[in-house]
Amino acid sequence: MPKTKFVPEKLSNGSFASAGLNDKQFNQLFNRIEKAQKKARRNAKRTLKPSTLTNPTPKALKALGEKAKGQRFTKEDLQRFDKNRQRHKEKYDSRTAGITHAFLVKNSREIDIKRANDQVDDGTGITQANFYAIKGNIAQINVRASIGSKHQNHRVKVRFEQWDELIQSPPKGDYQKAVQLACAGRISFDCDCGRHQYWYRYLATMGNYALAPPKEFAFPKIKNPELSGVACKHVLKATTMLQSLAWQRILATQMKAQAKRVGFGSDSRTHFLSDDEKKAASKNRKTKVNVDEAQRAHKKYERSQAAMARELEKRKRDGQRSIKQARKIRKQSNLIKKQEQQLTAQRDMLRVGFKNFHDGYKLQGKSRDEAVKDYAKMFDVSASQLEKVIK
Ligand SMILES: [Zn+2]
Repeated sequence: MPKTKFVPEKLSNGSFASAGLNDKQFNQLFNRIEKAQKKARRNAKRTLKPSTLTNPTPKALKALGEKAKGQRFTKEDLQRFDKNRQRHKEKYDSRTAGITHAFLVKNSREIDIKRANDQVDDGTGITQANFYAIKGNIAQINVRASIGSKHQNHRVKVRFEQWDELIQSPPKGDYQKAVQLACAGRISFDCDCGRHQYWYRYLATMGNYALAPPKEFAFPKIKNPELSGVACKHVLKATTMLQSLAWQRILATQMKAQAKRVGFGSDSRTHFLSDDEKKAASKNRKTKVNVDEAQRAHKKYERSQAAMARELEKRKRDGQRSIKQARKIRKQSNLIKKQEQQLTAQRDMLRVGFKNFHDGYKLQGKSRDEAVKDYAKMFDVSASQLEKVIK
């Protein structure tokens, strides 16, 4: 049977029908949405680009439009933005990919958490998220949009940044434990919703926890100039549910399967959850974002990081000590070698000298023993000592 090409249905409000699709179609649709967003960003006008941030010429400032009615952006605004950007990069340690789930929750806005937990009464709360696929180290979650949204669903993608190292050395060979660490450990993410796109994707890009593409380099100058918050309600819900055993068991099966395959790490197949797996996944009861728990988990994480840093520092010191010792030994052995060389040279000199001395005695009709005795006297050594050298 020939494959019929999937054509997404566009709703009257401009969004796509995503409810009721099968997982493959759902994925195709959201891949398409992702591409369209990327393209739209390229064509976006009045975005605050990095070059304007660092070089706010009057012309570039004017091109940004107004920050409020009749108010233009100033050079001071941009200096403040740049400071915020630097602070954000530092806080989220942009040198390392991903952030932990605890840190994500801890720094999220209260309103996003309330919406994720459906604790609002304005129709922006969400209630359901379904884990439906995994591709390499990326989990894909279908999150049902709020009643107030013009969309039906959103797709959250979460990449486990420590997956590859854990797949190679799961603690005590336990993949379940490895997955648990991967889920609580550093993750990068993306969501197609407007909140993520206009408020948080820039932050994720700067903090190096964006699952790219798409990256976002346009500063959110109107929506979120203070660069506060981290994740939209969809990401909050999806990543919280990823802390549950019900989902982690499914991930562990996949990790184990990937470990068995040759050339793991470059696994590009998408595994869609089977009906049984979906049934198991639906038993997930860890559906509410818990700030207190995140605070505790973050403190614990910080303590373990500090302990690890101390251990690394100690190893570094030990390493340096042994380098120093090795250097010392090398120096000493070089010295001994040099002394030996000097000694050999001295012996050669003595030997040649004695030969000439003895030749002279021979001409005078004197014996070798006499030559040895007198030559030894010249160097203030005993005859037997000299014999050892010249023999
Ligand atoms: Zn979202």
